Amino acid sequence: MNLPQTKLGTATCQSNDDDDPDFLSEETLPTELISPISIQLNLSSTSNSHRRCTVCQKNSSDRHRQVVVPHEARTQDFIQKCIVIPANSRCCPNHLLGNYFTQESISMIPKVNNTTRFNRSDITELLDRVRETLTLNGKLNFDCAHSLSVEDYQRLTDSLTRNQFEAVANTVTDLRKSEIRSVKTCLAILFVKVRTGLSNSILATLFSLEIHQIQRATHAVRFSLVKSFVPKFLGFQHMSHEKFTRDHTTPTARTLFADNQPETGIFVLNGTYIYLPSFSKADIQYA
Ligand SMILES: [Zn+2]
Repeated sequence: MNLPQTKLGTATCQSNDDDDPDFLSEETLPTELISPISIQLNLSSTSNSHRRCTVCQKNSSDRHRQVVVPHEARTQDFIQKCIVIPANSRCCPNHLLGNYFTQESISMIPKVNNTTRFNRSDITELLDRVRETLTLNGKLNFDCAHSLSVEDYQRLTDSLTRNQFEAVANTVTDLRKSEIRSVKTCLAILFVKVRTGLSNSILATLFSLEIHQIQRATHAVRFSLVKSFVPKFLGFQHMSHEKFTRDHTTPTARTLFADNQPETGIFVLNGTYIYLPSFSKADIQYA
């Protein structure tokens, strides 16, 4: 008779095949009853080694640290390639973009087993993950890097590439993500609004959110950018005078405006983007 087993941690498709002292599980769950691994399905799976990369098969070492494959990437692989990646498998960090595999990486993932053994929890989890992904279909989803093309990113964010978008998102550290919207979703809402000028009601439709959630997200991410991004990358204070004159002054500008003085800083200010009070009378305004 198969009795339930008591186990701490996540359910895995198969038992671990090595003993890794520095292994960190993907999620720490409370002690719970997990049903026995008793269901074998004709679904291909990868190796469940904790020492070998799921994608390129390189071994982990002190110099070549690996990370646990996020559940989003495991679901992505199952949907796109129908290959099961056991919970707590590892991969090199460069195969991931956010919580998803890059398209190049996903094409490299090899099948190791032709069948996979599950317990009931694994199957329920897999169905939940797939259902969660399907419910996100049809909305603008910046959390799933592969759901938007390179051109989509540039059109919707005013020329930011996917990597640039990720880089900005990584600087927003003090914005709490919630169950209904992530940091990336908040950032995308702001960028799309600035880029397109669409109303909050249309943005609510595009992002599958309520209007008040769009308002809150816009406000929160704007506040967070001013606090965490602006001081590091914009304004006179974000770099030293020496760095500015050394790395951001061209020889031509120095020759034309500074008489070849290396310590002189040169600014060219474009008046188009400087906010100035204007006259209310149109004939004075356009005089
Ligand atoms: Zn790898």
